[in-house]
Amino acid sequence: MARNSTNVCKLCRREGVKLFLKGQRCFSEKCGVNRRNYPPGQHVRPKKGTDYGTQLREKQKVKRIYGVLERQFQHYFTMAQRQKGNTGENLLVLMERRLDNVVLSLGLAFSRFDARQMVAHGHVYVNGGRIDIAGYLVRPGDEIQVKGDDKLKKKATDAIEMNKGRALPTWLEAVPTELKGKIIQLPKREDVTAEINEQLIIELCSK
Ligand code: SF4
Repeated sequence: MARNSTNVCKLCRREGVKLFLKGQRCFSEKCGVNRRNYPPGQHVRPKKGTDYGTQLREKQKVKRIYGVLERQFQHYFTMAQRQKGNTGENLLVLMERRLDNVVLSLGLAFSRFDARQMVAHGHVYVNGGRIDIAGYLVRPGDEIQVKGDDKLKKKATDAIEMNKGRALPTWLEAVPTELKGKIIQLPKREDVTAEINEQLIIELCSK
């Protein structure tokens, strides 16, 4: 995932929606979409494209929000199809359960890129065991903790401080003083705050 704020913000402006790729900046007045006075979800450049184009853009949006590549996306889609219930909702719930997303949602990282680096560098533990796979899917009851040297702990503490104004998703419990959190239950569709029309993605992927 690109780190340069100008580049990632360009993606939001191109899609016309907030993709939440820059951590706290995305919730501030510094957000490029806010600065341009485009409300979340409103298209910056109205696109008259085909149904296919609209569906494809929605899929690309989800891939960018969660930072997954096409192959990973297809893997999640297949899993979602095999699960009971609505495939679109299943897909988004799977994305939310990614370990890097949980670290970010717990406020332990500044951005998704940062959360992914923490996991990849072995600073994230699940139920006491080190997990260095960003796409690891958490389950109810799992305990997540960030561990490392003082520098790493300070970074996570600073991230918590920066994120303290943000609401914690109801499916998570956080213990900021110990740099840890717990999965209370599986996320639900309503826990996904980004504006996503998953039905468009299902229509595209089911062709
Ligand atoms: Fe940048 Fe705003 Fe998009 Fe975040 S939501 S990446 S700050 S334009």
